Amino acid sequence: MEYHGSIASGGVAIGKTFVFAPYVPSVSQRTVTPDEAEGELKALDDAAARAREELTAVVSRLEASDPEKAEIVSAHLAIAEDEELLGEIRRAIAEKHYCVSRAIRETYDEFSAPLRETEDAHLRERVSDMDDVCTRLLRCAEGVPETTLADLPERCIVVAGELYPSDTVLMDPGKILGIVTERGGITSHTAIIAKSCGIPALLGVKDATRLFPTGTEVVLDALEGKVVTETAGETLKCYTALRDRESLRQAAAAAYLCRAAVTKDGTVIDVEANIGSASAGALEAASYTDGVGLFRTEFLYMESSQLPDEETQYRAYRAALEAYGDRPVVLRTLDIGGDKTLSYMELPHEDNPFLGKRALRLCLDEPALFRTQLRAALRASVHGNLWLMFPMVGSLDDLRAAKRAVAEAAAELDREGTPRRADLKLGVMIEIPSAALIADLIAPEVDFASIGTNDLVQYLTAADRLNSEVSPYYQSFHPAVFRTIKTVADAFRANGKDLCVCGELGGNPAAAAALIGLGLRRLSMSPSNVAGVKQIIVNLTVAEAEETARRALSLSTAAEIEKNLTDFVRNKIGGDGAI
Ligand code: PEP
Ligand code: MG
Repeated sequence: MEYHGSIASGGVAIGKTFVFAPYVPSVSQRTVTPDEAEGELKALDDAAARAREELTAVVSRLEASDPEKAEIVSAHLAIAEDEELLGEIRRAIAEKHYCVSRAIRETYDEFSAPLRETEDAHLRERVSDMDDVCTRLLRCAEGVPETTLADLPERCIVVAGELYPSDTVLMDPGKILGIVTERGGITSHTAIIAKSCGIPALLGVKDATRLFPTGTEVVLDALEGKVVTETAGETLKCYTALRDRESLRQAAAAAYLCRAAVTKDGTVIDVEANIGSASAGALEAASYTDGVGLFRTEFLYMESSQLPDEETQYRAYRAALEAYGDRPVVLRTLDIGGDKTLSYMELPHEDNPFLGKRALRLCLDEPALFRTQLRAALRASVHGNLWLMFPMVGSLDDLRAAKRAVAEAAAELDREGTPRRADLKLGVMIEIPSAALIADLIAPEVDFASIGTNDLVQYLTAADRLNSEVSPYYQSFHPAVFRTIKTVADAFRANGKDLCVCGELGGNPAAAAALIGLGLRRLSMSPSNVAGVKQIIVNLTVAEAEETARRALSLSTAAEIEKNLTDFVRNKIGGDGAI
């Protein structure tokens, strides 16, 4: 049988599935008889011992590799071992005759209630630690084994309803052959992470968790967009051959990884990296890219169990700047909201979060949060070539408010005598159509801009980037997208200002050719796309790119444009292109 989905990251994987289903506690309101209480007390002791064992194992595994995370888990261990808390749970069972799950939940709720109320933000953040340990204890009491992406038993294809950024930050990419989810669109953060790790991924496969239970042998064909469950005999042979061919194709493109991205007629294109952290792995891209075109700083916030303080952020930004030396590092200020939430920060419920208080809107509304990030960025600016970029700018009002916040943070540092770079470049993401349409008004007020095609396509086509039900409407090659990019490119060229494309479209070799034809000279992408894009750049002249862009602009539908651009690139690189 074959089951279809949307390709988020290309490739072929063959292996066993692992269904990732985060535990959802079910708390009974049951009371027990005095006779039964004995059994519940024993269940509590067993659960507490199991929780301790699990946490101790995680701490010892993380101590060498990630001391900061180890510290967080140690704090969880301390909560799990807290005798006062355990004593209260025992009393709830023995005296109130609560069943074990009710006793655990109600006691934890009582202990965390004052923390929820407090004005002290740091203490309030402890609530999420308490909730985390409480859930663990409930799971252990139910006898449900832990499933995290942090320690998968073997290399496998992960199958999930949906993967949230908080799940993927824990995953060990080396253990993951592929990803299949029931929900999520091709520019969701799961897709972005899969791409950056070079993991084949298919999203929007209906009923995947039911159809492919843990241990099912499947072929994940993320070239054709399907999961195949008949993996015996000839089928397996064919797919094994396909997987091997795909590896060879990737190897052929890989030969271009470290080449300078110069077109056949000598035009230099800056090929930059999209990164989500300043880890050694992420900064490897410094050896083959011309800068960081997008540092998604929100990952720093999502990986942490509390708001990262100024010093933590400063260290991360400084590491990225030092790795890139004179080359630009575009640091995007916090883009939280939409699909990205923080476990320790309560965001208001919104019916349309992608149209809500997201990114810059949230930062302008939370000046202390914004100020911490801006101070960290400005302090780090003396260590390299930092460009600061604001996401979700829809008007000049947004831009000017953001600039005021930067000026305030800068003035504060100056008063303290803390050094910062005075010639810092400030720019915006063009990802809201209203900003694209006033690109001529924005360009004079910024040093640079970067087109975020992931959101731009979502807002232009009115199709939620995460909702696989509307993925046919989310058309990255829609004529409106190319017309909009042309408008922005013309305005920025007229004003002599730098313009980049940092959405997924920039990392697609077929689209990249057209973007160069529209005048783009900077493209930023997931490191896994760099080789493929450089391969087309060095085989292309600017005149050919311009002709390609003209043709794309003359066509009427997304399908026609995509086919035309893909055929062009295939012809250019002899059919073995990374497309
Ligand atoms: C975009 O919207 O294109 C973009 C690069 O930002 P993100 O995917 O993080 O929203
Ligand atoms: Mg965006």
